[in-house]
Amino acid sequence: TDRVEFRSVTKEYDGNVVVAPLDLSIAAGEFVVLLGPSGSGKTTLLNMIGGFASPSSGRVLIDGQDFTDLPPARRPTATVFQDYALFPHMSLAANVAFGLRMQGMAKPARLAKAEAMLELVGLKGFGKRGVHQLSGGQRQRVALARAMAVEPKVLLLDEPLGALDLALRRQMQEELVRLQKRSGATFVHVTHDQEEAMSIADRIVVVNKGRIEDMGPPDRVYLKPATLFAATFMGESNVLAGRVAAVSSGEIQVETPLGALVVPGSALLASDVHLVLRPEQLQLTPPANGFALGQARVEELSFQGTHCRCHCHMSGQDLVLRAPVSAGLKTGATVTLHAARDDVVVLKA
Ligand code: ADP
Ligand code: MG
Repeated sequence: TDRVEFRSVTKEYDGNVVVAPLDLSIAAGEFVVLLGPSGSGKTTLLNMIGGFASPSSGRVLIDGQDFTDLPPARRPTATVFQDYALFPHMSLAANVAFGLRMQGMAKPARLAKAEAMLELVGLKGFGKRGVHQLSGGQRQRVALARAMAVEPKVLLLDEPLGALDLALRRQMQEELVRLQKRSGATFVHVTHDQEEAMSIADRIVVVNKGRIEDMGPPDRVYLKPATLFAATFMGESNVLAGRVAAVSSGEIQVETPLGALVVPGSALLASDVHLVLRPEQLQLTPPANGFALGQARVEELSFQGTHCRCHCHMSGQDLVLRAPVSAGLKTGATVTLHAARDDVVVLKA
């Protein structure tokens, strides 16, 4: 059975639909990231697993058992909230042991457990310290240790790294993945940061306006997004509006602002389509099994260290590409852009 299951769940606040009828299954031991813009319903979904919000209709199951109407304390879940919410007057050990105290664990046992949990998050020997002595990153680790101390089957993380600077965020992302693999717990992590989602998730669930736009492993969602929203939210995209002019076996001919392009596709697609190509999929040299898009004028360049980001103009269409620094592009130059056939994503408009 699935560890977490949403069955036809909806949520309304004051008559506004925040979560449309939604089904979602999360496996035991999976690291799932809910990715979407602010206001898309991520926190609401998380809170319905943790018991801090109840569905307007539908059921939430954990290990096949209906938990829809049970309060947070009765659920095999723990939550790390966005603002960590540590108890400022308690020692770190007391903070981490809080849930264990609530469960009635004896003091020596829970303090030993708290020390072990602090060690797990890289704060060995910090138990006697106070919350005010900690940096933001350290507080975040304590919040994690506290949530994991109760050994939840499901750990819910609501934008837990949002307050950290980039270097610390990257480090914590890697630590979260290690912790998750070591503990075997199911992690459901909320973020609006697609890079964070890609670097930590086993599976990304792209949420928009209370609906699931796409879900799957990060590489699949990035390379073959199911919808235009997923394509544009999961990183930069070049989108060409097109109309299918002809269909032959496994290929379609699409009229675009750049002319007619022949790409893999089937007759099942509607006649109006969007063709999506990532910036790194626009190439300056012809790839195997590729085609030329045409000639573009280089409008803007910016050096990014590992590559140059380049805005081009082709037949009234703006395109962005990632060019190798070694290509030595210059503003005003004319380049021929190519793409591999299999890189093009064709979406119903
Ligand atoms: P996210 O976490 O993706 O930013 P939320 O789940 O917090 O999104 O919110 C989704 C929508 O529900 C937003 O429009 C928000 O204003 C609304 N909302 C969330 N919580 C409440 C609440 N307690 N009362 C009324 N509206 C709410
Ligand atoms: Mg939120």
